[in-house]
Amino acid sequence: MITLDTSLLDVLGLKPAKAFEAKFGFVTVNDLLHHYPRRYYKRGDPRDSGGLEVGEHVTFYTEVVAVQWIGPRGAQARGGKGPKGRAIISLDVPTGTIDAIFWNQPWRVKQLEPGTTGLFAGVVTSFNGKLQLSSPEIEIFSSVGLANTEGVSVTDPQRWQDRMMPIYPAKPKFTSGAIRQSVELVVDGLAPIEDPIANAELKELGYVDLDTALRHKHLPITEKQWLAADERLKFQEALSIQLLLAKRRIEAASAPAIPRPRSANGAGAAFDKELPFERTAGQIEVGEEIADDLSQSHPMHRLLQGDVGSGKTLVALRAMLQVIDRGGQAALLAPTEVLAFQHARSIRESLGPLGSAGELDSVPDAVKIVTLTAGLSTARRKEAMAQIASGEADIVVGTHALLEPKVQFADLGMVVIDEQHRFGVEQRDALRRKGSDGSIPHTLVMTATPIPRTVAITMFGELGVSTMRDMPPGRSPIATTLVPAGARPAWVQRAWERVREEVANGHQAYVVCPRIGLDDADDVDDKDALEEDPAADDKKRRPIAALELAKLLSEGELEGLRVEVLHGKLAPDVKDRVMRRFADGEIDVLVATTVIEVGVDVPNATVMVIMDAERFGLSTLHQLRGRVGRGKDAGLCLLITQVSPHSPSVERLKALEKSNDGFELARLDLKQRREGDVLGVAQSGTRNHLKLLSLVDDEDVIEKARDYCDRVLHADPTLARHVVLRSELEALEAEARSEYLEMG
Ligand code: ADP
Ligand code: MG
Repeated sequence: MITLDTSLLDVLGLKPAKAFEAKFGFVTVNDLLHHYPRRYYKRGDPRDSGGLEVGEHVTFYTEVVAVQWIGPRGAQARGGKGPKGRAIISLDVPTGTIDAIFWNQPWRVKQLEPGTTGLFAGVVTSFNGKLQLSSPEIEIFSSVGLANTEGVSVTDPQRWQDRMMPIYPAKPKFTSGAIRQSVELVVDGLAPIEDPIANAELKELGYVDLDTALRHKHLPITEKQWLAADERLKFQEALSIQLLLAKRRIEAASAPAIPRPRSANGAGAAFDKELPFERTAGQIEVGEEIADDLSQSHPMHRLLQGDVGSGKTLVALRAMLQVIDRGGQAALLAPTEVLAFQHARSIRESLGPLGSAGELDSVPDAVKIVTLTAGLSTARRKEAMAQIASGEADIVVGTHALLEPKVQFADLGMVVIDEQHRFGVEQRDALRRKGSDGSIPHTLVMTATPIPRTVAITMFGELGVSTMRDMPPGRSPIATTLVPAGARPAWVQRAWERVREEVANGHQAYVVCPRIGLDDADDVDDKDALEEDPAADDKKRRPIAALELAKLLSEGELEGLRVEVLHGKLAPDVKDRVMRRFADGEIDVLVATTVIEVGVDVPNATVMVIMDAERFGLSTLHQLRGRVGRGKDAGLCLLITQVSPHSPSVERLKALEKSNDGFELARLDLKQRREGDVLGVAQSGTRNHLKLLSLVDDEDVIEKARDYCDRVLHADPTLARHVVLRSELEALEAEARSEYLEMG
């Protein structure tokens, strides 16, 4: 009996099993059955799209209409020296005929006589202005002539007479046909698969059972069957994710927390009185939601999303003061040291005298701000930890260093996590375990990479989501311009002139590079911010490095300006000093890596030049450019790229040129990336579960799965009556734990 856990070795034998492992990494039947067909063909199916395009991968299920050999004959034809020959096989296709070409294979003429039917799969190329398939993979169904089956699998044509033929994502020397034959073998002997969802519930949800779905996904007879299978398998994927989240949501909602309602007097009230501007409508609304959450005896768990510059820090600060006024401490976790220092500094500034606790001229209700990062000297770190443990520290700003077990709080009432997308769920949880006496601190996570709702409920399924859509008044728009350095070198010169002009007008500039410029294998600051697969025509060139460019610029185009470098590998105090001097206007041009991506706030900076812009992801670029146009002066962002204007990565830059709307861009970004990548980083337990489900298009399925999981877990919290579901949940939890350990 074959089950999902059976090894491929036992079903297929040594050679195929080894090949599956080497080429695809498949070991079990389960692995193979989750390798889904890319599409299906039915005999006589017209191709869905009308015209063919060069570079497109196509599969025709068709008949040979003519064959021809052009070139030398006899022994010479089979390679060796001399001119090459080619077999031209004309195929009957909906758009007329198309030639399949096989170089130096005269035997193809005998093999593929007119009338032969089969599958022909390959990439469309163009030759002398005519489209053709060059050396396609073939699978013969019925052969007319002397079948020479070398390199070809012959298939029982009867079986595919009236059925859909699955086409699998294949690898060189591992054809779709070979995969299909293995799948057939496995599915024919497969014992029924247990369904985590009871029959009655399935009926209600409108899905076929999992066993049927898997079989029909691979070997459907009708289109209707695989469509229904798709729906069910998508739901299954959504279910896997939502199950874990639903459990966390229910646990979180029932955990104890100390209520910290707003006080009429105290630091919060004093701060509000001195606020130099009006809060935006979004800040007020979200502020209310949060104030209300903090008053509850269960922990707040809220995601605050707002575009770059929407003023999230203020919202967080007011919440922290509310907690502090009730005797609690607040921790603010930032993804980078630069951002942590900056937060500490700007919080201190916006608190004014209120932030001077412990100092001589301190006012009543003043709070104490303490910074803790891994880069601090031992003495300073010890001092910070003592202040955190004694409760002297009210607001603790830090990086990952805050997560370490030896950091103990006197009474941690609230955790704020800035730029949430840089942290995993488990890291979030590490801080939340630091509440006193088993209480869970209230948690606010903030992101400036706005995410579509489907992603929010998938990645942050256990959180309430608040969105600020408005901006503080008086923001100037950011103009973004693409500068194709290859096609228009003069524009690059113009870019540096613009920088000089801004500086001459008393402003400052950022120049961002993908690489640091150290002799170091690890020469980038944030791999996640960079695209893994730069434009193909540009793969070999090393990206521009901050250290090198800064030198070139200060001796060349920007000579006479105060140019300095900031990157992640500098010592923390150096980083802080550079950042501070930039903020104080002592540096004109900061040549930096993505360390300045998030949160850096210097309103006098008005221009940003991004080098090798195609190397950065869309969200990163949007974040980066959010560093300019933060004051009353208009911002300018110049995206410099060497790649051809027709390269797909330039599309991304064009999108950025057109839109300033972070929500729209986030959606685009998600579409362009493999969604699993987006999720994998932030949400453990998800990576392996998204094959069919689209976070962009399947909102309804995700909602349905979420509702289902909530309902089941509320009615049957230990899943005693849902045994299969329970073992699924246990497996997911184990997986999430091991991913966390690997991340460790
Ligand atoms: P982000 O949401 O990107 O973290 P910040 O919190 O850094 O944005 O805020 C950006 C800037 O806007 C800061 O300089 C902040 O002081 C200012 N700001 C925040 N709220 C308002 C407001 N209501 N009116 C005017 N300026 C504001
Ligand atoms: Mg911020």
